[in-house]
Amino acid sequence: MAADDDKTVNEQPVINFKNTDDLTDYYCPFCNQKLFRGKVTTFNMVCSNCNKLVRSQQDYHTDNEEQS
Ligand SMILES: [Zn+2]
Repeated sequence: MAADDDKTVNEQPVINFKNTDDLTDYYCPFCNQKLFRGKVTTFNMVCSNCNKLVRSQQDYHTDNEEQS
C-alpha cells in the first residue's frame, strides 16, 4: 500500500516547451502595435489597434511598387 507514495514523489509536471527561437514578432507598420508572434511567410489581417489591413512584407513591396 505504501508503494503509492513513491509514484507521487517522482511524478513531475510535464510542460510542453516549444522552442521560440524561430518565431518572429510581427508589428503593425501603421501604429507599431504588436500583431502576433509566429513563423509565417505571408499573412493578411486587420490590426486590432488601428483597424488597418496589414499584409505580409512581400505583398507590401509588390503593392507599393511605383512605376516611374
Ligand atoms: Zn495598427
